[in-house]
Amino acid sequence: MLKLKNVTKDYVTSSETVRALRGVSITFRDREFVSVLGPSGCGKTTLLNIIGGLDKYTSGDLIINERSTKSYKDRDWDVYRNHRVGFIFQSYNLIPHQTVLGNVELALTIAGISKEERTERAKRALDRVGLSEQYYKRPNQLSGGQCQRVAIARALVNDPEILLADEPTGALDTVTSVQIMDLIREIAGERLVIMVTHNPELAEQYSTRIVRLLDGQIIEDTDPVAEEEAADTVKQTAPSNGKEKAKMSFLTAFKLSARNLISKKARTSMVGFAGSIGIIGIAMVLAFSAGIKGYVASMQDDMLSGNPITITETTYDLNALTGMMEASDKVEILKEPNKVYINSVIEYVAEMSEISETMLIKNNITKSYTDYIRAMPKEYYNAMLFGYGLDTSHSIYVGYEAGFGESKTNEVISIAALTSKYVATLKGTDFAQYASYVTQIAPSFKQAPNNPDYIRSQYDVYGEIADEMDEIMLVITPDSELSDLLLARLGYYSEEEFYNLVYKAAGDERYDPSLDVTYFEYDELLSEEKTITWYPNDAIFTKKTGMMAQASPFGYEPDAANITADGVELKVTGILIANAGTTYGSLSSGIYYTEALTEHMLRENAESEIVKYVEENGDITSMSYGGMPIGVYYTYSYRPFYPEEGMPEVLKEIAFVGKSLGIEDMMGGAMGGAGGTGGAGGSMGGSGSEGGVDFDMSSLKTISARYLGGVDVANNISIYPVSFDDKNLVTSYLDAWNGDGDITVNGEVLSAEGRDNITYTDVLELVINMINTMIDIISYALIAFTSISLVVSTVMIGIITYISVVERIKEIGVIRSLGGRKRDVSNLFIAETFIIGLLAGLIGIGATYLISAIVNVILKPLIGYASIAALPIGNAIFLVCLSIGLTLISGLAPASSAAKKDPVVALRTE
Ligand code: ADP
Ligand code: MG
Repeated sequence: MLKLKNVTKDYVTSSETVRALRGVSITFRDREFVSVLGPSGCGKTTLLNIIGGLDKYTSGDLIINERSTKSYKDRDWDVYRNHRVGFIFQSYNLIPHQTVLGNVELALTIAGISKEERTERAKRALDRVGLSEQYYKRPNQLSGGQCQRVAIARALVNDPEILLADEPTGALDTVTSVQIMDLIREIAGERLVIMVTHNPELAEQYSTRIVRLLDGQIIEDTDPVAEEEAADTVKQTAPSNGKEKAKMSFLTAFKLSARNLISKKARTSMVGFAGSIGIIGIAMVLAFSAGIKGYVASMQDDMLSGNPITITETTYDLNALTGMMEASDKVEILKEPNKVYINSVIEYVAEMSEISETMLIKNNITKSYTDYIRAMPKEYYNAMLFGYGLDTSHSIYVGYEAGFGESKTNEVISIAALTSKYVATLKGTDFAQYASYVTQIAPSFKQAPNNPDYIRSQYDVYGEIADEMDEIMLVITPDSELSDLLLARLGYYSEEEFYNLVYKAAGDERYDPSLDVTYFEYDELLSEEKTITWYPNDAIFTKKTGMMAQASPFGYEPDAANITADGVELKVTGILIANAGTTYGSLSSGIYYTEALTEHMLRENAESEIVKYVEENGDITSMSYGGMPIGVYYTYSYRPFYPEEGMPEVLKEIAFVGKSLGIEDMMGGAMGGAGGTGGAGGSMGGSGSEGGVDFDMSSLKTISARYLGGVDVANNISIYPVSFDDKNLVTSYLDAWNGDGDITVNGEVLSAEGRDNITYTDVLELVINMINTMIDIISYALIAFTSISLVVSTVMIGIITYISVVERIKEIGVIRSLGGRKRDVSNLFIAETFIIGLLAGLIGIGATYLISAIVNVILKPLIGYASIAALPIGNAIFLVCLSIGLTLISGLAPASSAAKKDPVVALRTE
């Protein structure tokens, strides 16, 4: 029993108040077919909506099953609509992106009924309205009559007690109208049908009772319910809906929205793509950040071989570097015009030297310390290198072809002398300023780390790795190159070829292309004929007598033929080139000897005369003293770069003076040195004549016991850890020395007091940390920038969702009329934004992986690393979540506005 008691409805708009219903009192029987007639605008639809619980009355009461609805909550109305009422509209109000079956199922879907039952019941309802064949068609594929049948099926599917039809035939032709009316009558038998119509004939023909409405009031009722018929016991409590529910799951909302989005494929994919741009930006930054870090990590072990942990006698405390930077900050004072302010350089220098003093760390490397290092467990490191500050350039002699044209001879000369000679040659050219620089950078003999297997792991070896005392090896660059200067200094060039090299570079007309050397065969370099010999100090340095001895007790014998002592003849056993997997090998290009030779050199030279002399008298400084060179000096002859006629006049004079004083040898040396700045250092040689002498000041240095092999405690140590990750094994071993505990070296216990702190340098760690920090900083900055596009896309998705709310307004109305909650409606749009966010996220991630793959393919040949852009899966998941989160936020406002939409207004919207 349904009863309206003095129901009024006022529509309050800004301009006026429309009194749509003005006190309607009517009672309906549980089973009857009521037609409501009346002119347009008299309040028929309003009445129907109020009866259906779609609209709220302003005053009066609606009594449903003896229960007042005054205390009804939204929830109760939703349940009422879902379970007790079925609506049929003039304009069908079918959801266009759902199938016929889906439309009918919707009421059941909202009720939260299971899929199978839903389908079964919906099919039964459709069968009943004669649409067995049309389950899977879309509303736009049906005729108007068929659409209304679908609407009827939808209204019936919940088996409601009340069927409300608002001009169901209003949009249909006469024949179809009759069919629809027949159908409605057929199903009306069991329930209350209230049909609004403006067609009196239809009303007469089909209904059992006719109610006429005018200006919001009932003016006629053909079959009113008598007072005694209507029991007047009205309960004021709201119904308790124990079992009856109107609850749509979020999954259902998700499916509804998914179907809506699928029906608008083009727009959905464009929105998804637009939303993905910000994600792509951030994802690419993260991909590169991770990829580059991965690249750095992949190079760590490789770089480790080129950047061992080192311990040197003096090192810098790199942590103090920041202090130094701070100190350089000057206090800015306000400067007035017409005044010159004093920049206190003295103060600055004092500060700086203080800082560098505190930065400079002196390590006292003792025998116990080196023993401690040697005792390091073998599995911690690949190789070790102990350096003693040896200078082998004066003790290693190489054979080379001296002279020019016809008068060539094979000579043996120390590397130092040959270097000096060639440097002097360079000084005679336009490259004078580079001459001494070149000798400093060009590598000479070095010791290789003491592990052949370790070297073999990084280098391809032609021949054999030097392992014995008398074996040496040549390391060439990855491009199969060695510098001309290195080779020249080792005597691989003949003198003539070397000059030709200089002529060529200087653009001198004496350049002879036929003498060009572009390459050496491996076998040429490995040739047995090549002599490289190491001689002990006593064989090279001989005590001078007479006048010379006063200035300098030791002289340097240039002529290897005069050396009588046994040297070590060194054989080049192998040529090494970094293998494919090695970018930073432990050996740079140059010549390497073995630890065995180092030990031999130290043993042989420890007791040599010159070492003893240095130990007693201090270092020999090869500086000019009163114009007289003292210390170790070299004499040799060479051809001047400038022919005599071309020589500057002033140099010719000096040469003459030197000769006339009869101290040609020494003066020659001094002048040669001075001549270096004049650009004609070679002039003293006397036109390449035999016995010509020169002396190159720039290559002279303080000769110390260390240089000469007189100190057998290493002054620099390099340790090559097994891997970057296991580097801490080495560092913690080194740290233990600086710790408080006792340390046993060679069975001797050293307490903490007995040990000086030793600071080691781990350049690689510093570099890697710096690189990673920099990558992070750059990434954050870039992410901050790309986030802007994320904000833009979030706003855009908000706007699109608003548009979608407007577009789906009918659907909102239908869902509400079928008993859907406000929550269900907002879920619908939350689901929509969720899907768009997910889509944008997935497109973004997909695109990022695609771009990454392309970038990697392009960059691989350039950098030799296959994944420079590699988005970590964790980041990818995070970004998808971020995308969903942001679009959800942007969808919140539109979703809640959708939920607040008045279903009546929503349904009225065309
Ligand atoms: P009918 O269905 O009989 O043609 P309605 O019930 O639709 O008439 O409308 C009754 C009156 O209420 C009309 O004057 C209409 O303009 C007015 N009306 C209906 N809905 C609203 C609304 N949401 N706001 C303002 N006026 C409304
Ligand atoms: Mg109407």
